[in-house]
This record gives sequence, structure tokens and C-alpha cells, in this order.
Amino acid sequence: MLVVGFGCAGGSAAYEAATSGADVLVLERASGPGGASALSGGEVYLGGGTALQEACGFTDTPEQMKAFLMEALGPDCDEAKVTAYCEGSVEHYDWLVARGIPFTASVWDAPTWVPPTEDGLMWLGEAAYPFPDRAVPVPRGHRPTVKDFGGWLLMDKLKEAATAAGARTQTDTVAERLIVDGDRVVGVVARQFGEPVTIRARKAVVLTTGGFVDDDEMLRQHAPQLVGHEKVSCGGEDGSGIRMAQAVGAAVRHMSAGQVAITLIPGMAARGMVVNGQGQRFINEDCYPGRIGQAALFRQGLDCWVVLDEKGYEEVPENERWGVRPHFVAGTVEELEAEIGIPTGALQKTVELYNAHAANGEDPLFHKRTRFLRPLEAPYAAIDPKRCFRGPTDPPGSGAAVFTLGGLQTDLDGHVLDLDGRPIPGLYAAGRSTSGLASWGYVSGTSLGDGTYFGRRAGRAAAGSPIEWDARSSSAAPGA
Ligand SMILES: Cc1cc2nc3c(=O)[nH]c(=O)nc-3n(C[C@H](O)[C@H](O)[C@H](O)COP(=O)(O)OP(=O)(O)OC[C@H]3O[C@@H](n4cnc5c(N)ncnc54)[C@H](O)[C@@H]3O)c2cc1C
Repeated sequence: MLVVGFGCAGGSAAYEAATSGADVLVLERASGPGGASALSGGEVYLGGGTALQEACGFTDTPEQMKAFLMEALGPDCDEAKVTAYCEGSVEHYDWLVARGIPFTASVWDAPTWVPPTEDGLMWLGEAAYPFPDRAVPVPRGHRPTVKDFGGWLLMDKLKEAATAAGARTQTDTVAERLIVDGDRVVGVVARQFGEPVTIRARKAVVLTTGGFVDDDEMLRQHAPQLVGHEKVSCGGEDGSGIRMAQAVGAAVRHMSAGQVAITLIPGMAARGMVVNGQGQRFINEDCYPGRIGQAALFRQGLDCWVVLDEKGYEEVPENERWGVRPHFVAGTVEELEAEIGIPTGALQKTVELYNAHAANGEDPLFHKRTRFLRPLEAPYAAIDPKRCFRGPTDPPGSGAAVFTLGGLQTDLDGHVLDLDGRPIPGLYAAGRSTSGLASWGYVSGTSLGDGTYFGRRAGRAAAGSPIEWDARSSSAAPGA
């Protein structure tokens, strides 16, 4: 069996296929496994009552998890995938633990992209408006025991597991085309150090090549709003797997959708406000920061500022500031709005209204939680997301880093579907090369979660032994 691409989806597919007796070869274009998965934060969105959630004192159910995800990842989520994922989540957590991935039983409880601690559980916007109206808020971001970015540990363990199970890897090999015999996919044409190689797959081909953010032409065709931003990727996500499958009749979904990591510090935004070029707020700033990013890019064209006061800035611990300092400071809101070029009076009105309600612990416009509400006081500061995370002499960026969410249409076991919804014989896919859990919205952890869970299912199905997924059994105890 051939797996193309060795990120989290490829590693999980290879492990399950090899475990079920298939002879597995993974092709990887880079000189080693890892992909974007190894560069990632390592956050895996899991719930439904995992051992880690229980050890941290939280009660969760697959139904609550599903209610949250259907709202957060929509509109038009693949309900069958979300349901299966939520029902399989406890078992999937145990599977990750059994592969040697450690999770520490403590909770990170502050807005951030990636916690600087080893806390195993984190909130990802579950307690922010509008979600508590839909589902009981519990944290579901599961993180390997690593300070900051932990994707490398996840991938080290998946690589070890797949190799120990017998999967072989051929690196420096880029798949270019699928080979079809009749209506069945039977292999790939690849290139190794400039030379073409043809590889036959006795059972099936599983495409786990990641998304298409690195291919500007595909972005222009499908997701033009994602052109021109920094790319959240490993550099090898050129959509080649998606195009190879399209060439044999595969359908795609949600190709215009994207995750938008707006370059701001979530703790600063939550303590202040994010305003557009007219000085107006447009979202509750305590939500999952990718949600702010999508609203800022898709609705405001990234014309926005973080406005906060000195007290709010100082409250964000040094190790959560990522070196970001105010770009403008002023003694009055009037001066600040003049400095940053917001029409006279607009920001003053916004701050006045915000402060009047915040004094009563309310935010009737956007429903920010009381925890982050208080009237802003002088001195004030403004931060430009276009200059965040950049050195003082670097030119401004766009204010966002993005990756694609759309891809091949697959069923629960990773069969790639054609335009009539029928499986293409011999062809499977998982991870960011597919349209998975997220349709338009996004929550951190749903990429690694989707890739590993549906990668496992695709690997098993491609090897000819799909798993009977026992939904709710849990046993694994988290690390201390
Ligand atoms: C900095 C950063 C932080 C992130 N943080 C998180 C997080 O905390 N949680 C989360 O869920 N998601 C996170 N993401 C997103 C997530 O990492 C990816 O969406 C996910 O890892 C995709 O997994 P994958 O297996 O589908 O693809 P990848 O991990 O990208 O693997 C695809 C592999 O296929 C190879 N490949 C591509 N084309 C070919 C070809 N034609 N032939 C052979 N090989 C090929 C690539 O080289 C790559 O190794 C983050 C991403 C980045 C970059």
C-alpha cells in the first residue's frame, strides 16, 4: 500500500495499515517525515470525556462536543464526520497516549495561540460568545507535554510507531501522477532526484499531502482572499495530492475556506478591543483568536488595530507577549485616533460606549465575558497587526498567516469520492488534502485531530480491514 506524504495523517494511516498487516511504503517529498504537523503547536481538539479532561475535573460528552463543533466549524460542516469524530474522540485520545504521546493533567486558562507551559489541556474559545448558548463550555485543546510548540513530539511518536509497525519510508520522492488501470488507482508516478520512478500499489494509494496554501495559482483559483499572506505551512503544501486526485475524477469541497492566524497577541486583544479602520469593534475579543482573524480578513480586509491601555498590556505576562510592544501610545483616545489615522471622534465614541457598559460588567454589542471587561484608562496604546511579530526594521506584513481548509471530498473511511459521490476504487485520502471537520470556521486542534483520526480510518480501510470504531471506551490515565 502506498501512502503519499508523511505528516500526521500519513503517519497515522501508515501505522494502522501496517498494524493490520499491509506492506506499507510512505513517499515523502522532503528529506524526512514531519510536514506542517511537526512545525505545529501540537494542539489536538479532543473531548467527549477523555481521561485528561476527567483528570482535570471536567465532564464532557460527545453530544456537547458535537454541538460546539457544528457551530464553530460551520456553516455546512460534514455532520457525519463531526459526529464520528466526537464519538470516537475518547478512544482516539487513548490511541495517541498508547503511541507514547504524553499529556500533563493541568489546564492553561488564558487567551493565547500556544501556551508557554506544559499544561496538557487548554481552552479554545468554548467559553466565549456565542458558544455557551449552544454547549456546556469545557476545554478540549489537548497538548503534548511540551512548552510552546509541541507538534514535533507528536510527529516523533507517530513516526516511531509507524516504523515499528513495519511501514517503510522513501524520502526525497515527490509523487506527481496517479496511475489508473481501468477505473482503479494502482500506483503513482513520482520523481526522485530529478528521475521519474513508477511505484505500484498492490492494495491502494492514500493521499496525505497536506493543503494547497503553497500554490498561489490554486489559491487564486479557489481562495483568492488567502493570496498575499504569510503561509502557515511546511513549504511543501502545493496541492499536488488534490490535483492528482482531481485528474482522476475526484470531487473537492469548501476550497475557499481558510484558517486566518491574525498576527496579534490574544491576551492583549481580550483585555482591550480590536477595531477596524472606522474605529469600530466587530467581534468579542475574548474568542478563539482564529475567529478574530477570519472576521478581520474576510469582513474588514485586515484594516484593524488592537487598542488597549497600559494596565491591560502590563497584565499580559512577558513570556506571552512574543516581543510585541505598542506601536503608538497616547494620553487620550483623541490623540491615539489621530496618530493611527482613524476618523476624528470615531474611536472616542467606541471607547466611551465600551467603557460605559464595561463599568457595569456588560458588553451588549459583542458579549465579551465579564472576566475581560473593565473600562479602559489612560495611557492608551495601539498595536498594528501588520507589524506584530516582526523586527523593528522589517517591512510590515499583511497582518495574517493563513492555511487552506478545503480539499478532496472523502467519506468516513477516507474513500475519495468522485463528482457523483461514488468512491474512486483504490484511492483514499486524509488530513489537510481533504475537506475534513472544518467547513468555513476553524478551531485550533481540529487539523491534527482530523488528520490523525481520519488518517487512521483511511489506513485501515485502504489495507482492507476497516475498524469497528468503539466509540466511548476510555482507560488511559494522563501523565502527572
Ligand atoms: C506553525 C503551525 C502551527 C500549527 N498549529 C496547529 C495546532 O496546534 N493544531 C492543529 O490542529 N493544527 C495546527 N497547524 C495546522 C496543522 O499542522 C496542519 O493542518 C496539519 O499538520 C496537516 O497535516 P497533514 O498530515 O494533512 O499534512 P502535513 O503535516 O503538512 O504533511 C503533508 C506531507 O506531505 C508531503 N507532500 C506534499 N506533497 C507531496 C507529494 N506530491 N509527494 C510526496 N510528499 C508530498 C509534505 O512534504 C508533507 O511532509 C499548525 C500549522 C503550522 C505550520
